[in-house]
Amino acid sequence: MLNGMKNLSIYGAKVWVGDSEPPKEKILHVSDGFFTENPTDDAIEVNASGLVIIPGLIEAHAHLCLNAGDDWEKVQNNDSSRSMSLRMIENAQKMLRAGITTIRDLGAPTELAVSLRNAINEGIVTGPELFVAGAPITTTAGHGNFWNGEADGELGVRVAVRERIKAGVDWIKVMASGGNMTPGSNTARAQYSIDEMKAIVEEAHRLGTSVTAHAHGVEGIRHALAGGVDMIEHCTFQTENGSEPIPEVIAEIISSQTIVSPTLTGSLALQKGTELYKKRTELTRQLVEGGAQIVMSTDCGIPGTPHIYLSYALETMHDMSDLSAIETLRLATSTSAHLLSLDDRGKIKTGLRADLVALNEDPTVNLAALRDINFVMSGGSFVHR
Ligand SMILES: [Zn+2]
Repeated sequence: MLNGMKNLSIYGAKVWVGDSEPPKEKILHVSDGFFTENPTDDAIEVNASGLVIIPGLIEAHAHLCLNAGDDWEKVQNNDSSRSMSLRMIENAQKMLRAGITTIRDLGAPTELAVSLRNAINEGIVTGPELFVAGAPITTTAGHGNFWNGEADGELGVRVAVRERIKAGVDWIKVMASGGNMTPGSNTARAQYSIDEMKAIVEEAHRLGTSVTAHAHGVEGIRHALAGGVDMIEHCTFQTENGSEPIPEVIAEIISSQTIVSPTLTGSLALQKGTELYKKRTELTRQLVEGGAQIVMSTDCGIPGTPHIYLSYALETMHDMSDLSAIETLRLATSTSAHLLSLDDRGKIKTGLRADLVALNEDPTVNLAALRDINFVMSGGSFVHR
């Protein structure tokens, strides 16, 4: 799928580099997988006239092992490790073809996620660059326990963090509240005590790794904040009546600079015009206008959210937040790269990885252009489409 790395000069396109400025005509030079200031002597010229080039997209919350269908549970239960691995490869490659050149996988069997990441890095299989959490840490019978990540008590969760670091994960994910896909778990309540959350964060930070916490209901969000996590997934303030943000908790998210990964799922767009959508919009505005640190994410792989739905999530964010299309796009490129500490990507700039998407129309005018792809480049190699 990747067409070997070449030294290139791409000319004729308008380029949006990932900042606040609209696209401008610019020649891009690529050598050994990175953007360079000048062309090399052997550079091949690529005519990209009429196209708009943007940095490769970053999906901050994916589940490569899930099939995005209503039958996910049956499929997952019947998967062998081998078939699940193959599913993960196919989903990763689908995302790459859709211009998503970096993915954070936040829930899969640890060994499968780590070995796929390594296989991509070693060039054994082609795919986007992966950063993986493996099996989320959860309480016995807690949310996502089907990934076999259960751990209880302060000692138990410390051991769980150490095991994951030993296995080679990039992030620690903890289920701070119950989840909608796990019957018997409770989204309204915290799963772990504050002391358990503190133990997870302390242990992860001691070993140089960051922690992100799945949290829907306000109690889970409160415990995640009190535990000192680096990031909160969903952060929906979910109640039986939809999102009901608590001002003092929103203020704490913003003042503590805890990153929010809002997982704008495919089903949200279908709720447009409903009370639920209105309430989620209100929450999103409070976070955006308050200056919260936000990365773009979809929770892709869950039912109703196919792996390539990041462009739809960007449209939902644009609609809910009132951010301009450019400011919205930054959330899935330069801003995400910065907040995820991936400073080698996210912009089109000399010295950074040559991850880019060439589009037939201008996404800074209309985000739907993200689905009209001409070509994708990952680390300086063309992606076969
Ligand atoms: Zn998820």
